[in-house]
Amino acid sequence: MPDATVERFDITADFEGLIRLLAKNLYTEPEVFVRELVQNAHDAIALRSVDQPDLHGWIDISVDQVARLVTVRDNGIGMSRAEIREFLSVIGASDKGTIRDELSRAGHDVARRLIGQFGIGMLSAYVVADRIVVRSRRADESDGLEWSNSGSRACELRQIARDQPGTEVELHIAEGYEFVLAADHLTRSIVKYCDFIPYPIVLNGVGPVNATAAPWHKDHWTSPE
Ligand code: ADP
Repeated sequence: MPDATVERFDITADFEGLIRLLAKNLYTEPEVFVRELVQNAHDAIALRSVDQPDLHGWIDISVDQVARLVTVRDNGIGMSRAEIREFLSVIGASDKGTIRDELSRAGHDVARRLIGQFGIGMLSAYVVADRIVVRSRRADESDGLEWSNSGSRACELRQIARDQPGTEVELHIAEGYEFVLAADHLTRSIVKYCDFIPYPIVLNGVGPVNATAAPWHKDHWTSPE
């Protein structure tokens, strides 16, 4: 006999509030978005270089103080519509596990170099940004796509013209986080989090800001540690 005094219902959540709460608790340092976005750019370049071994990968970060934008661009593999829907628009979804396994089975060294893991890196951008726009063109496609989101459930995805493959992630910096727009602050974050990313990172047209070469990038480096 069902108990008439018992009421059953689903817990709901304020999605927008949760996104920011999760982001701010996962990433206590606001500038961590630099590391996460650069790591995504790194992985995208590494993946494109599987088919294009001569590719000179680059990562470009630029600031528009007036429009309050920080934009991270790369000439990596880019994203298809399906990838944007499956991985960019789903928190906690990442293709890196599958890709790593496939590449490793095919004997590609790049499998060991991919950094992405949990599919939550993009979340870090919501600590400092109230709107994110991603423009991307996959290396094997001729058109680009633009995805945008303001921390709510609603995303927008549209086709755009784009000359070159690669991705740009544009962060609209939220009130109170203007300090991340300062070039010296960004430089410190790049050096702190991305110094050994093996592709040049240029900031506002100047650089590379990162050292690019770590001991483990050198051919003769054999230390097991
Ligand atoms: P992770 O890097 O751990 O997989 P993210 O949330 O940072 O998680 O990114 C989710 C997915 O979005 C990535 O796995 C990748 O498929 C895609 N992505 C994000 N940034 C880029 C980029 N710059 N170029 C190509 N794909 C990207």
